[in-house]
Amino acid sequence: MTAETIRIAYGVLLLLTVIIATWIVAVTWRWRRVPGSTALMIQMIGEGWWTLCYALQLFSFFHPSSEPFFWSKMMFWGVVMIPAGFLVWTSHYTGKNRWITPWTIALLCIEPVVFNLIVWTDSHHGLFSGAFLQTGRLGIAFYLHTLYSYLLLLAGAVLLVLHWLRLPPSYKKQALLVLAGLVGSSLFNVMSVLVTGPLLRLDISPQGFMIAGVVFTYAQLRHRLFDIMPVARHAVVEGMRDGVVVLDNDNRIVDMNPAAQEMLHVRMDASLGKMAGAVLPFWANVEREAAGREETVIDYRLDDSAHRQIDLHLTQMRDKRNQPGGKLILLRDVTHLKNIERALRETNTALLLKIEEIEALQAKLKEQAIRDPLTGLYNRRFLEETLSRELAQAVRSQRPLSLAMIDLDHFKNINDTYGHEAGDRFLKALGDLLLELTRFGDVACRFGGEEFVVVLPGAPLEIAAIRVNSMRQAFASRKIEIAGASLGVTFSAGVAGFPLHGSDDAELLAEADRALYAAKAAGRDRVIAADKVYR
Ligand code: GH3
Ligand code: MG
Ligand code: MG
Repeated sequence: MTAETIRIAYGVLLLLTVIIATWIVAVTWRWRRVPGSTALMIQMIGEGWWTLCYALQLFSFFHPSSEPFFWSKMMFWGVVMIPAGFLVWTSHYTGKNRWITPWTIALLCIEPVVFNLIVWTDSHHGLFSGAFLQTGRLGIAFYLHTLYSYLLLLAGAVLLVLHWLRLPPSYKKQALLVLAGLVGSSLFNVMSVLVTGPLLRLDISPQGFMIAGVVFTYAQLRHRLFDIMPVARHAVVEGMRDGVVVLDNDNRIVDMNPAAQEMLHVRMDASLGKMAGAVLPFWANVEREAAGREETVIDYRLDDSAHRQIDLHLTQMRDKRNQPGGKLILLRDVTHLKNIERALRETNTALLLKIEEIEALQAKLKEQAIRDPLTGLYNRRFLEETLSRELAQAVRSQRPLSLAMIDLDHFKNINDTYGHEAGDRFLKALGDLLLELTRFGDVACRFGGEEFVVVLPGAPLEIAAIRVNSMRQAFASRKIEIAGASLGVTFSAGVAGFPLHGSDDAELLAEADRALYAAKAAGRDRVIAADKVYR
């Protein structure tokens, strides 16, 4: 390969670099509003200009004879844009851009302007060319400019490295690409100084800078939101009160914000890369609940001293091709809410219990209001309510209704002889018997003292009299042990009924009472209904 072929090939490469630079400038122009885009654009304009001038110089195109280094000198207008552009861009990219103001930009412009003035007025002072023609060494201005440029580039590189170190692991990949671009371009520069320059008299630094420029542009545009934001985004995730844990596809811990570390009592550096099961106390629950689901919400009670209640939200993340891309776990401390909820629930339960108690009490009161405590039968009040209702019903349906008035015979004697308590036992015994022998729908009550009333809805007078008479017989045969003696008591009863004795409850009661007296008068221990005696 001849020197001429290399020169032409290299020239083509230079032109290509110019085209790429122009294209990048056009693209970044569209996104000029995004912070850092202008700096990137200036960097690219500088690179394009540098490369273009270098190509023109290499091919001796339009070479003013009065100025042999015309294109070399023109080149510097582009070269000076790169270090400042790079520093400003990295500052934006890494979020360390608070220092960038119109004043600092103006300061950054001083060196490029001064240096270029020195270059163009070199014939008067030689500060730039120095003893180049004799020894090949340029003047002091060139070395100062080189030092200054490297300092700016170094500052930008330090910003990138610090940024990379500070980023959580999940954001590191892309920042690494930018760093790689930087390292690549530096390698080109070193190669240019050590190899291609001395050997082929060709400078490949523009290509190196261009490769870095392409990478930077990619980073700037491809992830432009991500990249402008990572710092803000990072700050939000770091500062939020909810815990965030990120897992990779193999359920290894990739990231964890301070809130999560505090909640779970684990340290990020000690957990990174470990299996979720080894670090997260709730992992067994998660695996049980989340199997195959995209979203899972579980309540979890932390086993620490505070016993905090955690609302755990797990999301299966997916990449652009919808492939599983790790998991995101959000942890929200809901202890306070749960406490309120529990207190409410407890109050509610207590209230319900109270209501139940009150209802039971009410039922008991109601029961007490209608029951006779000694016999357990209904009382007179209940009878009065029921009788009129039953009668009205009987009249409506034209069905018979009978009632019996019962009175113990010579009961006073029992009391007088054996005492009031013995009398009570007979009253109770009659109560039990009436409960036993009345049917569903019948109403048996203690009317007062030793008088009882039985209402038999649906029973015609005669049938009622027969049934009451069988009750009489059953009671008469019941004996009670009192003071070593086996005693029995009889009762008499009068029966009245609808329709024979009318449809008024007072009327019926009066008629039954009349029949009862007749039974007493006829010798007791018998039942009388409509003047007919049952015995
Ligand atoms: P008769 O056959 O005429 O009915 O005679 P008697 O003695 O039963 O007379 P009466 O019905 O007038 O007597 C009522 C008695 O019933 C008076 C009272 O001593 C008794 N007595 C009323 N209520 C109770 C009670 O709750 N317990 C007891 N042990 N006795 C009562
Ligand atoms: Mg009586
Ligand atoms: Mg009596």
